[in-house]
Amino acid sequence: EIKSSEEAINLEDKHGAHNYHPLPAVLSKGEGVHVWDVEGKKYYDFLSAYSAVNQGHCHPKIVNAMYEQASKLALTSRAFHNDVLGAYEKYATDYFKFDKLLPMNTGAEAVETAIKIARKWAYEKKGVKETDAQIIVCENNFHGRTTTIISFSNDEGARKNFGPYTPGFIKVAYDDPDALEKAITDNDNIAGFLVEPIQGEAGVYTPADDYMKKAKEICNKHNVLFMADEIQTGIARTGSLLAVCGNCTCEGHCERQETYTRPDILILGKALSGGNYPVSAVLADDEVMNVIQPGQHGSTFGGNPVAAATAVAALDVVRDEKLALNARKLGNLFRRLMNDYIKDSNIVELVRGRGLLNAIVINDSEESSTAWDICMALKENGLLAKPTHGNIIRFAPPLVMNEEQLKDCVDIIISTLKEF
Ligand code: PLP
Repeated sequence: EIKSSEEAINLEDKHGAHNYHPLPAVLSKGEGVHVWDVEGKKYYDFLSAYSAVNQGHCHPKIVNAMYEQASKLALTSRAFHNDVLGAYEKYATDYFKFDKLLPMNTGAEAVETAIKIARKWAYEKKGVKETDAQIIVCENNFHGRTTTIISFSNDEGARKNFGPYTPGFIKVAYDDPDALEKAITDNDNIAGFLVEPIQGEAGVYTPADDYMKKAKEICNKHNVLFMADEIQTGIARTGSLLAVCGNCTCEGHCERQETYTRPDILILGKALSGGNYPVSAVLADDEVMNVIQPGQHGSTFGGNPVAAATAVAALDVVRDEKLALNARKLGNLFRRLMNDYIKDSNIVELVRGRGLLNAIVINDSEESSTAWDICMALKENGLLAKPTHGNIIRFAPPLVMNEEQLKDCVDIIISTLKEF
């Protein structure tokens, strides 16, 4: 048994690959919006495992569903049916209003799946010559870590020395519908446009309100699939069920609102299980999804009974507890309080975001930023957050937070920033 944070960190350092640089907090317990370290210190979690723990840590309803299913039947593989998968697929396709769902485990796998579906659709439905299909992606995207996905990243750290890279991707500027249209009209072989409605890893880069809508119209016009990666933005995080829902706060999913931009392919992960289990999914209508036939794609664990039961409970919680509405309300409050503060601050340049996916940009440079030191000080003061891209700190607490807790967190953040 681990007795101190130092002991745990030393073990990881000696025996684990050094592919992360975590803040030195060793957590051993979580409940709701809080986590505790090995020494018993309590923190507000202001990252939520990169927006996976939207429903809060160890939500009893989700944990129970997972536990009960795990004690009954955990894995069959897709060689046989199980009695949970179909019910989950019906529930999730009703919830998000698509004909079909393809279950996978991690976000990167779901993105890979979407890419495969789009390419196959281009060959079999659009008439693109085999091997010529292209997918348009955005500058500064983050879609995961597989060889194909890093092939179209422009993060040098994520790419360098991992080549040769997968061809077939064209990069355009983010938040620039004209650049998208030009790339599409310049090339007859475009299968799809893969986009994050808000670029989370890039630093919660929030595009113009009408960007999604315009991008979708351009894709429609040219018979290109509009593929939304909502792995980080989806499932209530940005104050609506999906970021492509625009201003709609209905619980569940209605498609009535004017601002809704319906993706042809919707990619989900992270909070689909409330962070309790690796569950990801690709949703699409028959016309697109049916290009995948038996033997052409799959995963041993994808759609396993525990994943299916966990996802149903996690989606129930989002609806029952009106998490989208809460994220919207608290997000507005958070940005208002932070904006009030930064008027008189020279350490914070700006605050941006939507719902409870927010970031502050520290007023220095990406190369030599105090953001890390600020996060260390926040940790001392009982709040955990992590810099992204040097001088940006992302703030994404669990969506089960209440107003009093949020105000308490803003007090911690502001008093910490005043130390700098
Ligand atoms: N896509 C987006 C937008 C993400 O934010 C992430 C993870 O941060 C991924 C894909 C990859 O998900 P995973 O880490 O589960 O592979």
